[in-house]
Amino acid sequence: MPDKAGGNPHVIIAGAGLGGLAAALALLKRGLDVDVYEQADELKEVGAGVQISANGTRVLFELGLKESVEHWGVRAVDKEIRLWNTGQTWSLFNRASAPIGERYGVPMFLLHRGDLHTALANAVRAAKPDAIHLNRRCVGFEQDGAGVELKFEDGSSAKGDVLAGADGLHSQVRRQLFGAAVPRFTGQVAWRGMVPMDSLPDYQRRMVATNWIGPKAHVTCYPVRRGELFNVVGQVDRNDWQTESWIEEGTHAECLADFPGWHPEVQTMLENTTTLYRWGLFLREPLEHWTKGRVTLLGDACHAMLPYLGQGANSAMEDGFVLARCIAQWPGDPVIALERYEVARLERTTSLVNRSAEMAGTFHNEAMATAESAEKYINTEWHPSKIGARYDWIYKYDAAGAAL
Ligand SMILES: Cc1cc2nc3c(=O)[nH]c(=O)nc-3n(C[C@H](O)[C@H](O)[C@H](O)COP(=O)(O)OP(=O)(O)OC[C@H]3O[C@@H](n4cnc5c(N)ncnc54)[C@H](O)[C@@H]3O)c2cc1C
Repeated sequence: MPDKAGGNPHVIIAGAGLGGLAAALALLKRGLDVDVYEQADELKEVGAGVQISANGTRVLFELGLKESVEHWGVRAVDKEIRLWNTGQTWSLFNRASAPIGERYGVPMFLLHRGDLHTALANAVRAAKPDAIHLNRRCVGFEQDGAGVELKFEDGSSAKGDVLAGADGLHSQVRRQLFGAAVPRFTGQVAWRGMVPMDSLPDYQRRMVATNWIGPKAHVTCYPVRRGELFNVVGQVDRNDWQTESWIEEGTHAECLADFPGWHPEVQTMLENTTTLYRWGLFLREPLEHWTKGRVTLLGDACHAMLPYLGQGANSAMEDGFVLARCIAQWPGDPVIALERYEVARLERTTSLVNRSAEMAGTFHNEAMATAESAEKYINTEWHPSKIGARYDWIYKYDAAGAAL
């Protein structure tokens, strides 16, 4: 309910993932009251690596997390494209006009999702110690002209003036607003794992982010957690199992069988992962609207995207930041605030969903079958002009300055 002093709205958020926590922190920093309801019974370290590009870095710096990100993150000294079998290497920092950090004004960070999640949760709790409520799985809501009530599986409920559904891929808030998303399998699966850096030979312990690309698969790897771990994600065209999960485990033998003939450096990394997780990649059509009355959505709940542009986490945090700006700008009128938020964010995130899907064909391309055709293809697809066209509009975005 609006607080008595200033008439500020009380915001409730379903889901304490990266987007929900970024929204909560941005709201608290603007002096607004917020409560976050999370289904998990503890905020464990889950997930693997996330690449925080300049647009995400700006959000984190605005939220006061510069020190944490600099402490836990890795600043890549280069980004490379490498050919799956020969290991031939193309340096992207040499190709773009300046290293990524200088080109966009703020650095890119490579982070363990768990470290970023912990930094956000700690900052939210520092601002409001009891803001995050665990073991509260939302199952629906009711709203009227006076407020909104979020309902939980255990029969309890919570009231507020505005509800943001930040409850991820299988969002219950989205289900009630617009129906459940219909996921479509892409025919691709991802293997994800972490490699202790000290298990790798010296020559592989480099602070470089690499995309190994092949005809039917690619492997993205980069250091995280101050360089103590290496994050490895191998994505492969494969139709025989289709489970969308962040936590389903697979075996090393099965994973290695998906990368026959790949360069020994790739094989070594996959062999040295501690646990391997299998993640089926699914597409969802972007929504045309996110908001009804006092209820809106953010992050994967409304614009889940494939990982090819590395924007799932970045765009969810942008959403959270812009949502807080809108609520702070129109505190007396939540309906207007949410409408302005949707207008400010919809076009950009729809483009991210669509362009991420298009990138699948760029990474998995038959041109990589021979070294000669690969060289021609990579020189075209990763030409500085193409890199700029692909990434500048994403990385230059400033959630703190974007028009509302
Ligand atoms: C366990 C896990 C591991 C991940 N690992 C990676 C990774 O390694 N690399 C990567 O790039 N991305 C990963 N992601 C996805 C990435 O974090 C998101 O795509 C991105 O951050 C978008 O953020 P979000 O806040 O919209 O969603 P998420 O970060 O997915 O957060 C959604 C939150 O809502 C909670 N929730 C779901 N349903 C309910 C409910 N009914 N009631 C209350 N709470 C609910 C979830 O438990 C979760 O905490 C992972 C997500 C999860 C949940």
